[in-house]
Amino acid sequence: MDVMKISFKEMEILVSQLYGFDEPKVFLEQYETDGKTVSFFLQKAYQDLIQKYVVDLGCGTGILTFAAAFVDAKFVLGVDVDISALKVALKNKKVLEDLGFSLPVDFLCADVKKLYLKKKFDVCIMNPPFGIQRKGADRIFLKKAFEISDVVWCFLSQNSEPFVRKFSEENGFHISASFKTKIQLRRKFFFHKKDVEFLPVDIYRIERN
Ligand code: SAH
Repeated sequence: MDVMKISFKEMEILVSQLYGFDEPKVFLEQYETDGKTVSFFLQKAYQDLIQKYVVDLGCGTGILTFAAAFVDAKFVLGVDVDISALKVALKNKKVLEDLGFSLPVDFLCADVKKLYLKKKFDVCIMNPPFGIQRKGADRIFLKKAFEISDVVWCFLSQNSEPFVRKFSEENGFHISASFKTKIQLRRKFFFHKKDVEFLPVDIYRIERN
């Protein structure tokens, strides 16, 4: 079956029901983007994704990968260093297939730092590590995104704008839009104090000059 057109609300519900990380790893900053945030993101980004080749760096369990495919991307490649996260992503792909959604997505296990892709992608999307556990992780992701695509949609921590602006400029890119929202974190790590916490984030659209 071809990709069905579904509403943002339906997609939000679908991706909310997918499997999350089995055993989230702190040093990889593993948490999945919640359905509401995915929907918010896609309502901003979908025009860039329709009929495009998209790569999702640090795809985790594949939420953004599937979401991009739902808005009719031509093909989406999800990349993650963690094979156990990708196993969950493949399980999620199967779940969606069983529901009748045969999506043009594939997954690749690789460290973004060492990633070499033969083909360029039209658009890079990512909700990567914010560099909280490992300093500079966000920089590595942005650098790779700039290498392989002309348009980048990226989640980063709140107030990261001065860094993103400067780093983009140094690489021949500029911020063309930015949005503020809050990711809902379910209690995962011992240092999360509440069952549900909200993490303020900035979402950027960055474009080659
Ligand atoms: N993008 C997903 C997951 C966010 S968590 C979502 O929105 O739900 C960040 C992800 O980045 C994790 O899955 C982690 O395994 C991955 N990651 C961290 N460092 C990485 C690296 N160097 N190369 C590739 N993936 C990495």
